[in-house]
Parts: sequence; C-alpha cells; structure tokens
Amino acid sequence: MPIFEFHCGSGHRYEDIFFPRDPIPDALPCPRKGCELPSMRQRVNKFRHVGPVFEDMDRYEGALLSPKQRTDTDKNNGRGARFRGPKDVSRMEQDLGLSRVDPNSASERHKRDEQRDEIATRARVNQESGLDGELDWIERQNITEASGMTDMEYVRWKGMSDAAESAAIAGTVDLSGGTVTGSDA
Ligand SMILES: [Zn+2]
Repeated sequence: MPIFEFHCGSGHRYEDIFFPRDPIPDALPCPRKGCELPSMRQRVNKFRHVGPVFEDMDRYEGALLSPKQRTDTDKNNGRGARFRGPKDVSRMEQDLGLSRVDPNSASERHKRDEQRDEIATRARVNQESGLDGELDWIERQNITEASGMTDMEYVRWKGMSDAAESAAIAGTVDLSGGTVTGSDA
C-alpha cells in the first residue's frame, strides 16, 4: 500500500494512501482548513503490506459503495469514498443493514460501543496530532488487529519499519518495489 507525502505552499504536510486502482496525482488540494493551496507530491513513504487487512478492499468498495459515492468529489480529496480498513467495511455493512447477527445482542451492542469509542478516539488523535497522527493511529490498530502483535511488538516492528524507510529515503538501501520522488523539503 503506497503512502505518499504531500506538502502545500504553506508548509502543511500530510500523507495519503492510494489503493491499486487509484490514479496517483502530482498535486492535491491541501486538506488543512482554510488553506486549500495545491499540495505537491513529495515522496513515497513506504509500501505497507499488512496481510489480510487490505485484501479485497477494492471488491468491498465495489459491492458496498454506490458509483455516486465512489465518485463523490467531496470525499477523500475528490477521489470519492474509499475504505481504509476492515472497520470501514463493517461500518458500511451496518449502515446498509447487512449485519448478519442480531443487532440487539450483547456482542453487537459491545461492537457499537467500540466503534463509537474508536470514532471519538480518532477525532481526538486528529485534533492532537493532525492527519499524520490519525493515520499512524489507524495503521497501528489495523496492524495489531491483523497480526495479533502486542503493543510492545508493534513498537519494535514500527521502529524497524521506520528505520528501513529512513535508510531507503537516504538512498542507503533500495526501497523494494518503490520509488523515491522529489526531495524531503
Ligand atoms: Zn496548506
């Protein structure tokens, strides 16, 4: 999953994830409120393959999102609605009434509480750390859930992953399968 970093003319930086089907633009409008300067693609940060997490995401999008949603230019920097992980899928399934279990069961109520908590946490992380922080948080949730890594294992893995990324960007190792574009301004 390639993650690209964008910088706008006011110095705002953010990352965006592109699914295999997405065109990868050279510039996007800055997502920072009140800014809207074009932000230019600077570099690819890393390719994240986290097992089953993103598998079939295209298929889920095709099945659960209407063509209108998928081309809604208010969503996702004009690229339309996208699923970023399995939780987006289950949330949409629930919105569409596709839940295959009793919605009043204890486990479903528990799941709804968890989802509410998650939405609140995401909003708080976003306020405290911005979009980068929120993306890191989502990544951590997805990876620990998919892999069963403990927090400690995740921290160690993330450290190694970040070190490998830095080495790749510094040109000391090859970023396998990826390209480094632009410079780290
Ligand atoms: Zn900006």
